[in-house]
Formats: sequence, structure tokens, C-alpha cells
Amino acid sequence: MSRIKALSVASEVAPLIKTGGLADVAGALPPALAAEGVNMRTLLPGYPKVMSALHGAKNVHTFDALSGGPARLLAATAGALDLLVLDAPHLYAREGGPYANADGVDYPDNAQRFAALAQVAAQIAQGLSPEHQPDILHAHDWQAALAPAYLHYSRRPHPPTVLTIHNLAFQGRYDKALLAELGLPPESFAIDGVEYHDGVGFLKAGLQFADRITTVSPSYAAEIMTSEFGMGLEGLLRARAQNVSGVLNGVDEAEWSPAGDARIARRYDPKRPQLRAENKAALQARLGLRADPEALLIGVVSRLSWQKGLDLLLEALPQLVEDGAQLALLGAGDRPLEAGFAQAAQHYAGRVGVRIGYDEDLAHLVQAGADVFLIPSRFEPCGLTQLYALRYGAVPVVARVGGLRDTIIDANEMALAAGVATGLQFSPVTTEALLGALRRAQALFSDKAQWRRLQLNGMKTDVSWRRPAQRYAALYRELIAARAP
Ligand code: ADP
Repeated sequence: MSRIKALSVASEVAPLIKTGGLADVAGALPPALAAEGVNMRTLLPGYPKVMSALHGAKNVHTFDALSGGPARLLAATAGALDLLVLDAPHLYAREGGPYANADGVDYPDNAQRFAALAQVAAQIAQGLSPEHQPDILHAHDWQAALAPAYLHYSRRPHPPTVLTIHNLAFQGRYDKALLAELGLPPESFAIDGVEYHDGVGFLKAGLQFADRITTVSPSYAAEIMTSEFGMGLEGLLRARAQNVSGVLNGVDEAEWSPAGDARIARRYDPKRPQLRAENKAALQARLGLRADPEALLIGVVSRLSWQKGLDLLLEALPQLVEDGAQLALLGAGDRPLEAGFAQAAQHYAGRVGVRIGYDEDLAHLVQAGADVFLIPSRFEPCGLTQLYALRYGAVPVVARVGGLRDTIIDANEMALAAGVATGLQFSPVTTEALLGALRRAQALFSDKAQWRRLQLNGMKTDVSWRRPAQRYAALYRELIAARAP
């Protein structure tokens, strides 16, 4: 079988630029797909961090004017990644993050910034540079989601398209006055076009025109067709249900492996899980927690936002501390939550350790040192941290939603008897249910043999990219075959 040429389009790609799970997926999928007969190139914006990481950059195309300024398309590599980089300084050469300035305020021209990315993606798909013309275009999230719409309205032949939703909460809706400026024809402003609540809906447009829609777990694929989780897009998703599916994410095993992790205090593997104890001690020391091997140490690494349900943890804290548990939390986000946890760390000094900020090293140590890893999300498309937790033997305690439901096997009587349990789930997502699950964890934790079995089941679970990559490759082949003359 001949190799497939795929173009992935994403606004963030690890390890170059990352704000969340999207970057992890966009960075890990191309190398995993290489083993499945797919050569994937990734188109991303030329942010300063990206520009400084490029090797062997070659000019592929020059745009005299792209959304108000000159731009270049560069082909380059960075580590194992083959890239196409849209170097448009007027759009991307900014201090701050990919979407917002250092104060967290969204850039006022995000519509133009990401429409340009999608427009160039569509042009590449239609042969802007024959050498890089793909057999399939795979767009990620709202930032890339206009690409299938541009292809549709070009009315010219183009390769099939896949749109992956990493989080339906981010939809990219902008003023309809921008329609012409974004290069969309007047007729596109229609209910079966890009129109969304009287604006231009980037994600909506992608959902309308992509040949296939995937999201990052089977449960989330089902949930987003309901009004509870659909965030206004459930009707369109239901109408396209035949073309919607869920493919779980994997983890980057080069980055997340306790046996080879240089960021943790002591490396270990399933044959020597007892060495984790040194990481627990190191984590306790690092966050000012009392040195106590017997206390149930609860780890959290998360954005602090409503989605992640950490307000429930804050509410449960007095009870947890009274029960003798400890908390190690690393996170950043909503100011009230940051303040709440910082205050709790002062109030419960020695029992609650908090680091507000983004810290890759500490994120690894939490996985390696915590006894349980807590994720009380109200919704979770896939979630990556519970997969890392499985690999690191931190038993995941998770809300029964989305990808958390699909990746953790609850330690109920039957699963324990069958020897397949890997963590604990709770539902509904309330403080009481969260406390109930952590009490169940505490009971299991006090039975050392039982706990070790839970840890080892998790550590042996296949959370690699191998199976997901096979699924995506099969999907690409199916779509390409359907187009064949
Ligand atoms: P989301 O993409 O919704 O934030 P995921 O679980 O899919 O959630 O991915 C989150 C990623 O970001 C994980 O790799 C996690 O380790 C990382 N992360 C989140 N918050 C922090 C933080 N404060 N410091 C370091 N890494 C973090």
C-alpha cells in the first residue's frame, strides 16, 4: 500500500508551543502515524517560539498580502516533526501566548489570525506547493476549522477532510461584519454555511463541511450530541451523527515514562513500583507537606477552570484534611480558584501544598509521587493526565464523563474480583460523590496488596499512540478510497 500524505493543521503543537491537550495530540500523532504508513506534515503559525525552533527552513511560498501583511510559508523540521510554518509577523510575532496577551486578554484579531491559517491550509490542500499537496487534510479545533469551509466554497476539487474536536467549549464565533474580510463569499452566511448565532462560527463551519468529524473519546462523541454537553452545536452534530466518531488519545511515551523520566526524584517501573516512595517524599518536601509515607497523597495537575470541577475539591478540602489526606496541587487559571487554593495551603500548612503556575518538572513529580491523581471534571473530551497517572502508578480518581469514563476501569466489586480495575470513578460530579470516591480510595489504599494491584494494572495498560494512530490511518484510507475515481 502506498504511503499517505496528510496535512495536519493546528494552532499549537508540542513541544514547540502548548496551552493544553491539543498541543500534545498534534505533536504526538505524526510520529505515531509514520509507523502506520502516513507521512504527516503539520501546518502551524510562526509564533516566536516556533520560529526559533526551526531547522533547515526553506521558503515554499511568498504571500504579498495575507490578511493585511506580507507572509511566507516555510518548510522546516523541528525534532521529529515535519512542519509547514506560516511566518506572518503581523499576525503571530507577539509577546504572550498563542491566543491572548500576557494578561490573558484575547488578541482582538484572532478571527483574522486563524482564518489566515485555515485559508493557507486550504490552498496547500489544493496544490499551492505541489511537493506538499496532501491526500488528506486533518484540521484541529476551531482555529483550523474554517479550512474545510474554504475548500467547499472554492468549488474546486480537493482532498477529503477530517476535523477533530478537542474541546467543544472553544468555538470561535465572530462578528458577521468580518465575513468578506475573512474571504468567505456572501452565500456562506447561511444556516447550512458558516453562520452561527448571527455571527461567523469557525467550529460550526468545520462541523458543517468536514467529511468526517472526530472527537477524542467515544463517550464525548456521544455526549456532545446532547443538550447537556453540546454547547449549542448538538443539533448539527446529531444531523451529522453518521460522520462523527471518537478516537481516544494516547500519551507520548518518550516524555511520560517513569522508567526514563529525568524530571522525577527516582525512576521506577512495574517491576520496582516500591521506588515510587522516594518520589512521594520528594513531592512532599517540594510542596512543604509533612513527610508522611502513610498519608493518602492526592495529586492534581490542571488548568483551574469551571470545566475541571476543582471548586468541588476546594469545598471538600476540610473533610479530606480531617480524614488525614494530603493534597499536592499544581495549576493555573481562574483567579478565584488560584486564590482559594493558595489560601487553603496557608490554612492547612503541611497538609495542603499548592503551586500556582505552569511547571513541567513539577507536573511529572506529582504523577510520580502522588498516591491518587484526582480529576473531577464536569466534562472531559479525553483528558491526558489520567493516562499519565496510569503509567506512573498514581491511581486515577475521576468523574464519570467523556474520556475519563472510557479510560479508567472503576474498582467496583466485580472489576476488583476480575483483577482489571485501574482507578475509581464517581458520578454525579458533586462534592459528596467526590468525597465518597476518595473515601473508597482511602479504604483500598489501606490494603497494601490491593493497592499495588490497582497500580500495576494501570501501569500495564496500553495508553500508547499505537492504537489511536491505527484508527486515524484507517479513517484516512477509508476517506481517500471513497474519493477514488
Ligand atoms: P486540557 O487540555 O483540557 O487542559 P488535558 O488533560 O487534555 O486537559 O491536558 C492537560 C495537559 O496540560 C497535560 O499535559 C498536563 O500535564 C498539562 N498541564 C496542565 N496544567 C499544568 C500546569 N499548571 N503545569 C504543568 N502542566 C500542566
